[in-house]
Amino acid sequence: MKIFMVTDMEGVAGVVSFADQSFPDGRYYDAGKKLVTGEVNAAVDGLLDAGVEEVLVWDGHGAGGIDFDTLHPAALLLHGRPSPPWSRLQEVIGRYDAFVIVGQHAMAGVITSNQNHTQNSRTVDAYRLNGKPIGEIGQLALFMGGLGLPLLFLSGERDACQEAEELVPEITTTAVKEGLGRGSAISLSAQAARQRIREGIAAAVAKHRRDPIAPLVWPSPYELEKRFFHTDTADAEMNKAGAERVDAQRVRFRSDNILDIVYR
Ligand SMILES: [Zn+2]
Repeated sequence: MKIFMVTDMEGVAGVVSFADQSFPDGRYYDAGKKLVTGEVNAAVDGLLDAGVEEVLVWDGHGAGGIDFDTLHPAALLLHGRPSPPWSRLQEVIGRYDAFVIVGQHAMAGVITSNQNHTQNSRTVDAYRLNGKPIGEIGQLALFMGGLGLPLLFLSGERDACQEAEELVPEITTTAVKEGLGRGSAISLSAQAARQRIREGIAAAVAKHRRDPIAPLVWPSPYELEKRFFHTDTADAEMNKAGAERVDAQRVRFRSDNILDIVYR
């Protein structure tokens, strides 16, 4: 089995602050990257424990969340921004059998979620796909589902675990942090978080081998509505092909192809 691993920063135990840790100009950004990499390495260990043959880690944090020097020796790293064109990325993802998420936060607007946001924490208020609120987990699960990859495991903040379980009830999750507000949380220690991730992800692979999880697919057609905090962001969005203005802060896109719409 070959696993594609998507990583983020805001759902990692000990990473509690956008300003100090998750943003690249934060005073503890480099220390934050080491915490991310510790959880990623624990997840790679768990995958290897479960007999996985290859792991490609995609650094999904905008500014980069992986400390390359201490990355697990068995992992491959897909990194760099801008991200490759979706067509080239799809070809790479197609080499893998299933995917997992490490370090994830909940969608924008979840009241208790530490560092809750959807894509851009400074501009995006909310996304809805076919009327249902979705965040980064839903976007990933549907995009990967369109390429035939099921979501086996997620680690991160407790609200992110719940969001994933609502999308994919058969998923295995490991909560490493309980958000109390957008700027505060109760974290497990780094060592405890890593131990739980290693055990959780190995169990997730074993469960998938016994009882395979299906890729997430929602019925077409699709309608994605994006609501922004400010009208200028919505103005700029109108330059994308197919954009329809709903109101001052909302822009809508339609498609029959999930791969074309979910990251529009
Ligand atoms: Zn994120």
